[in-house]
Amino acid sequence: MLKYPFIKPFYVIMSLGFLCFSCQTKSSHTDALIVLDYVKQKPMEGDWLMDHEESGQSFEDYCSSSPIRSTRERPFLYIVGMGEASEQKLKILKTIQKGLSAFYQIPVRILSDLPHPSIPQEHIRENGQWDAKWIIDEILPEHFPDSAMALIAFTERDLYPGNDWNYVFGLASLKNRVGVSSYARFECECAGDIAEKMCYMRTLHVAIHETGHMFGIKHCIDFECCMNGSNSLFELDRQENRMCHECLAKLCWNRTISPEKHVAAMLKFYSKYLPDTSLISYYRSAQECLKNLDLI
Ligand SMILES: [Zn+2]
Ligand SMILES: [Zn+2]
Repeated sequence: MLKYPFIKPFYVIMSLGFLCFSCQTKSSHTDALIVLDYVKQKPMEGDWLMDHEESGQSFEDYCSSSPIRSTRERPFLYIVGMGEASEQKLKILKTIQKGLSAFYQIPVRILSDLPHPSIPQEHIRENGQWDAKWIIDEILPEHFPDSAMALIAFTERDLYPGNDWNYVFGLASLKNRVGVSSYARFECECAGDIAEKMCYMRTLHVAIHETGHMFGIKHCIDFECCMNGSNSLFELDRQENRMCHECLAKLCWNRTISPEKHVAAMLKFYSKYLPDTSLISYYRSAQECLKNLDLI
């Protein structure tokens, strides 16, 4: 039996562009949100940063990296269900659609499901895991709509990104502007609604993380943030499912939106579709913080 000594669930294939945008200055409004951030805790044994040396990405580095942006010709983020079609999957996709749309302030469309993607046998493990790299290199580019800024697939199948990897929650290719995310490991042992909500929260967390990579945002190493790398479900659950002020500044610059817009949309999303006390409380505080700025 093969052994996989290292568990490396998050991975992204970064493709560097050669053009540079002229860099604008960061909104002082996002800087004001630093008071609500938590400095990144020292990594524990088994955490992502124990296994991976990362140098982070400043706002200035981000602006000059020529990140992908939506354009008039490709204004939409597309999501698609892959594998077994089910009511649960459709419900998850609809929640993710609303969540990503609010978070990134981008219109999100759902493509027709891909129930039987043509994955060759050598890219399916005996335990049923699908090769995520094959999916992003071979399957998703074939289904990529002309009007897509990016396309992300969601599946209940467990994924692996390479032979020496145990499993992966999500994998993205900036070159192809596609990503795939699995919620196979996201249901908790609690019953009913709590298990379902936990699965939705984790799926949205990974969807936001992978979409952040699509927008060229690298792993965050300075603050507790949804752009932190994660080595396990335990680590994922310890992380904030929101961006720190620095990553939010990158998002706002890319989307040319104000942090106020993002904060208001996320407050509405969590209040209406996925009630979460701690995130609602964060976004309320962020809103207050931004309002007080206007009074100064
Ligand atoms: Zn990542
Ligand atoms: Zn961050």
